[in-house]
Amino acid sequence: MFAGTVNGTGALTVRVARPAAESVVARIAAMVERATATKAPTQLFVERVEQRYAVAVVAATLLVFAVPPAFGATVADALLRAMTFMIVASPCALVLATMPPLLAAIATASRRGVLVTSSVVMERLGTATRVVLDKTGTLTEGRPRVVAVRPEAPFTAEVLLALAAAAERPSEHPLARAVVEHAVAAGVPVPVASDFRAAPGRGVRAVVDGRAVAVGRPDGHGHDTDGDTVVEVTVDGAPAGQLALADTVRPDAAAAVARLAALTARPPVLLTGDNAAAARRVADAVGIVDVRAGLLPDEKAAAVAELQAAGERVLVVGDGVNDAPSLATAEVGVAMGGVGSDLALRTADAVLVRDELRAVPAVLALSRRARRLVTQNLVIAGTAIAVLVTWDLAGHLPLPLGVAGHEGSTVLVALNGLRLLSNRAWTDRQSHKDREGQ
Ligand code: ADP
Ligand code: MG
Repeated sequence: MFAGTVNGTGALTVRVARPAAESVVARIAAMVERATATKAPTQLFVERVEQRYAVAVVAATLLVFAVPPAFGATVADALLRAMTFMIVASPCALVLATMPPLLAAIATASRRGVLVTSSVVMERLGTATRVVLDKTGTLTEGRPRVVAVRPEAPFTAEVLLALAAAAERPSEHPLARAVVEHAVAAGVPVPVASDFRAAPGRGVRAVVDGRAVAVGRPDGHGHDTDGDTVVEVTVDGAPAGQLALADTVRPDAAAAVARLAALTARPPVLLTGDNAAAARRVADAVGIVDVRAGLLPDEKAAAVAELQAAGERVLVVGDGVNDAPSLATAEVGVAMGGVGSDLALRTADAVLVRDELRAVPAVLALSRRARRLVTQNLVIAGTAIAVLVTWDLAGHLPLPLGVAGHEGSTVLVALNGLRLLSNRAWTDRQSHKDREGQ
């Protein structure tokens, strides 16, 4: 039953099997909402501090104007001193300390194919202490191929493939696309399925030619998979055979993993819903030691939450619907833009438009550079305000000098931040060394 359905002349009986809030999408959306709700306070804090500072400056200006005449100063002197105070104490340079470096970094990143959704995210990227990577579609290209079709009697390879491809056709999963492509390439006619259901991280089920077909993760563990991804096909509940699929590791995955390990001082972690042997093979190819396989979407999120409970600031890179909960739970979520699913893209804080893993360490380094510039700017702005205010209150700061000092520090801070617009800001010096060393 779709929302907005209009009943014609007949009587319509609807049975509610489960409330809408219990659907998979609603549950995942709820997880996403919970996780994103915890992010806003950082931004709010900055805004609150700025607001209070501005109010404090106005109040202080009134005091600087009102108090001295009570002790015998002339009103003209007090007014001039108060005006100078308001100018040099106003937070122009402080306000410009934070946003230009972060916005310049966002612009530079977007030129290099990384969309960062906000300055809060740009600031947070560099604080990651641990990187968690998904396997299928993230470390691998997400274009698996069927390498073996193993029917179980009485099914033939052709029938097995036709039923599996029919059930998989509506799915957005990379494995589903591979199965359909393989059937089409083999010239097997693919029937139309009805009652399609996808269970993220598990598989799909549908009705094909009146038979209930399920394709998905094998129940039992410990299958000998030779490092391939294996999916099991059942027809009317009985095993009909297996399909083995293999995917190619992205060419830049190993270098990206090594660079991330160097940047965060800790090796990245691999989380996947696939079997342990397939996970191991990819992990070995890219140089990851910490591997957790066979995880359902909420178990991936739980693994991320566990790392964060242990004090890590986790950056997750993923692509699938099954990665959305962990992307939302993580301090920063990064989605693959090319192969990524809609839900992953919507949940992520940053998107790799060209699916280049090398951009993850690069944007992390860029964020750290932006954070350093923010600190530098805050020191410049704070020092300028402190010196000028002290000078105005304790001595006699001529108004033109006050204006020059105030505007000068503001311009200096703004230009300092804009340095991140240059192409050199992206070029990761360490990555040059890595490449030369290879
Ligand atoms: P990953 O975490 O590596 O991205 P997923 O969580 O998407 O992998 O999938 C985990 C496992 O669930 C797959 O290895 C496969 O066995 C099964 N699976 C998920 N979706 C499908 C599908 N559409 N068709 C067949 N099997 C699927
Ligand atoms: Mg994936």
